[in-house]
Amino acid sequence: MNSYDVAVIGSGPGGYVAAIRCAQLGMKTAIIEKYATLGGTCLNVGCIPSKALLDSSHHYEDAVKHFEEHGIDIPGDIKVNLEKMIARKQSVVDQTVGGIDFLMNKNKIDVYRGVGSFKDATHITISGEKPIEIEAKNTIIATGSKPSNLPFINLDKERVITSTEALKLKEIPKHLIVIGGGVIGLELGQVYRRLGSEVTVIEYLDRIIPTMDAGLSKELTKVLKKQKFNINVSHKVKSVARKGNEVIVKADDKKGNEIEFKGDYCLVSVGRRPYTDGLNAEAVGVNVTDRGQIEVNDHLQTSAKNIYAIGDVVKGAMLAHKAEEEGVFVAETIAGQKPHIDYNLIPGVVYTWPEVAAVGKTEEQLKEAGVEYKTGSFPMRALGRSRASMDLDGFVKILADKTTDEILGVHMIGARAADMIAEAVVAMEYRASAEDVSRMSHAHPTFTEAIKEAALAATGDRALHM
Ligand code: FAD
Repeated sequence: MNSYDVAVIGSGPGGYVAAIRCAQLGMKTAIIEKYATLGGTCLNVGCIPSKALLDSSHHYEDAVKHFEEHGIDIPGDIKVNLEKMIARKQSVVDQTVGGIDFLMNKNKIDVYRGVGSFKDATHITISGEKPIEIEAKNTIIATGSKPSNLPFINLDKERVITSTEALKLKEIPKHLIVIGGGVIGLELGQVYRRLGSEVTVIEYLDRIIPTMDAGLSKELTKVLKKQKFNINVSHKVKSVARKGNEVIVKADDKKGNEIEFKGDYCLVSVGRRPYTDGLNAEAVGVNVTDRGQIEVNDHLQTSAKNIYAIGDVVKGAMLAHKAEEEGVFVAETIAGQKPHIDYNLIPGVVYTWPEVAAVGKTEEQLKEAGVEYKTGSFPMRALGRSRASMDLDGFVKILADKTTDEILGVHMIGARAADMIAEAVVAMEYRASAEDVSRMSHAHPTFTEAIKEAALAATGDRALHM
């Protein structure tokens, strides 16, 4: 029987990063994955394929809507070849997951294919034609999550679909109904909106992207409406039915009136649930909460002391980079180090266009905590860079402590916000004040100048270009 210092169950961004860090620290490491390809949700059916389709659809939209204005004439019609677009996405995925095989090899990590199941706290059985058993001093559970559903919806995965099917449709929906106005629904909704679908979003709460700062939600709603999204907030979906190729969704609005939506596809994007099926976790004393998450302490250690859990399967934001940080954290903890993660500084991003990105506290959280703060905002449209590319929507907002000027939160919506948020993370990691950022030189012309201007606005209303 093969014996390891660490076995990692699940090869998503949490699991494969944990395995690499364990190997770097000199531990004999194995990784177990039940699917044929490594990389988990993120690389196979999440972050990477969704961004590939967002990029392709963005190019198409630019060609149709903006090329002429830029002085680029294209003879003949511009058409979408969906089959080719999906095939390109798949080749991006294939290359990326292939890269994980390379990394496992390079770091001498043994890869096992099959469902990993605890036999006892130090032995794992791996399913397959001939089940294998391995021994591990420590195990890291990184089994991720799956799309959730509402109890009354029958996901036929043909027309009533999850994000996984939305990444490989064979036709462009005429009318896509999206249940859930969170990140995944809006990103995939925008892909098909750009390709020509009518898109209707139905959200239960009173705003889209409800966990982000309300200012971002308001601006994104405005921009998406300009892009002809139908957005219905405060609507409670009651039923989803199929009649041939038609999907009928019934919901109650705020006043209790029943509203009927008819489309040809319905994307159910109401969040994700932690995944622990087949793990046999309880049998080795690993507690699973009512919400299906694996219970962990501040060291990400489960109730069994040599078993850790990370990523989507534990509490916290369901984000690839959060899972990665936790993977490194647990590897270093097992190696006897004392790592640290500041969860307040894990950025959140929505890859619509304009992009939405944030780090730190929202205004709502600061108000609730009774923290006195000041605000500095700057609109993207006031930047030369924005006018050059005609990306005029959005703003950067900096929230800073009223007395100390320390930056407490940065919220932005605009072109390339997903990349720009890194500056805010660095500033907050070093506990910068708004004035510190306002005194840093930002290259001109760049979108990042909006960060400097917002910092100037937060420190005595000193924005220069407003
Ligand atoms: P996962 O990536 O879910 O990996 C878990 C792996 O464990 C899977 O491969 C599974 O097969 C395997 N597994 C489960 N049980 C067993 C078992 N018993 N034995 C063996 N293997 C097992 N996040 C971002 O940060 N940015 C984005 O842009 C982004 N976009 C997304 C877009 C979509 C459409 C979706 C669905 C998600 C997106 N996410 C994004 C979320 C991101 O994918 C997850 O947060 C991330 O993948 C979680 O990583 P993980 O390692 O915890 O689990």
